[in-house]
Amino acid sequence: MNYDAIAIGAGLSGCSAAIQLAKLGYRVLLLEQSHYPMHKLCGEFLSIEVTEAFANLGILEQVHRIGAQPIHRAYLTTSGGASFRCPLPSTALGLSRYQLDLMLFERAQGLNVTCLDNTKVTGVTGNLAEGFTVSTSKGEFSGRLVLGAFGKRSSLDRSLNRKFMQKRSPWIAYKGHFTGVDIGDVIELHSFPNGYCGLSQIETGEINVCWIAHERVMKEPTHPELGIASSLAQNPILADRFRHMQRTSPSLQGLSQISFARKENFHNDICMIGDTAGMITPLCGDGMAMALRSAEIAVPFVSQFLEDKISAIAFKQQYVIAWQREFQTRLQLGRMMHNCFVQPSLANIGVGLCQMVPTLGNWIIGATRGKPQLINNEFASNAIS
Ligand SMILES: Cc1cc2nc3c(=O)[nH]c(=O)nc-3n(C[C@H](O)[C@H](O)[C@H](O)COP(=O)(O)OP(=O)(O)OC[C@H]3O[C@@H](n4cnc5c(N)ncnc54)[C@H](O)[C@@H]3O)c2cc1C
Repeated sequence: MNYDAIAIGAGLSGCSAAIQLAKLGYRVLLLEQSHYPMHKLCGEFLSIEVTEAFANLGILEQVHRIGAQPIHRAYLTTSGGASFRCPLPSTALGLSRYQLDLMLFERAQGLNVTCLDNTKVTGVTGNLAEGFTVSTSKGEFSGRLVLGAFGKRSSLDRSLNRKFMQKRSPWIAYKGHFTGVDIGDVIELHSFPNGYCGLSQIETGEINVCWIAHERVMKEPTHPELGIASSLAQNPILADRFRHMQRTSPSLQGLSQISFARKENFHNDICMIGDTAGMITPLCGDGMAMALRSAEIAVPFVSQFLEDKISAIAFKQQYVIAWQREFQTRLQLGRMMHNCFVQPSLANIGVGLCQMVPTLGNWIIGATRGKPQLINNEFASNAIS
């Protein structure tokens, strides 16, 4: 079968694009290397902008029903003892990727998207003029257009010889679910030398604990009592959390070489969305909202191209302009904040300043995210009930 569009990767951006295109009547193939349902490495903190995307994708009610945890406040600390508490600009949510990605995948299936999990894409050939052939572990598929939604780092990036893969990235991350502490409706961000760790509650009542650090942290001796690298234990609040928490996940999920480098929006005529086009640092807690938003930006151009209303060149130019207008500044600010937060002295000064001038902290939190288009108090109260 010749598909109108093939989305590679059934995470947030791939599922979102597939759902939107299927609703417009296109024949869509969605390919995922892993098997659904699955846990994913992520802070699982959803900022408010996702509300409208969830409504448009038809999963908002389900998110209410499943009991996503409302998050109203932030608490930042440093290893030097500075701390800052503030209300979030609007209600955020704690929801596991296990549930969220599954909801989206099933929604795509329900809209007659051909969804194949356990199907790894190994290569893509072709172009927008002649169409594409996508090679997978289950054979070849052809389509007029390909959307690259394969996340922050994939073996496919290497097969496609993407530029950012040439530079090694030292950032590694771990995630697990824990019990034993009650942090309620707060997202906690604790900085330590060469990294930071986020804690927030998800729909099960468990605490998602996710930290990102320079790889040198993993070479340190483990703290004898807490079982974590000694850098993490240098933040007294974080150490105290680990002292009282017990892990519920059978093991921690880990990932290395996380890159925040600039990426291309198109590579070999493949239209990149989500982290495949560019990733904001986890400190901002906005990557999921951006992944969903990038699919919303791409789909109208994809549709116009499929209808022969715009040329391939116009499709590429217009998507790149729209993407950069929306995300470029936030990505830069995110990189800057990340670089400060991993250096103890800068983290101390930054968090100390926010403590003295709370409007500064509020401004920074607001500046790293998109504008919620649907300020929905009903959503927040539904999520609470
Ligand atoms: C440590 C850390 C913490 C984070 N915390 C948060 C947070 O709290 N809040 C937030 O909003 N964002 C957070 N993010 C960012 C967020 O996880 C991502 O921005 C978001 O998942 C991007 O969605 P995506 O659709 O681009 O990619 P993904 O959700 O990663 O989906 C990509 C999919 O492609 C599949 N795939 C890859 N290669 C292939 C292939 N060859 N063939 C077929 N399928 C393939 C993968 O299996 C995967 O399912 C965090 C990121 C990190 C690293």
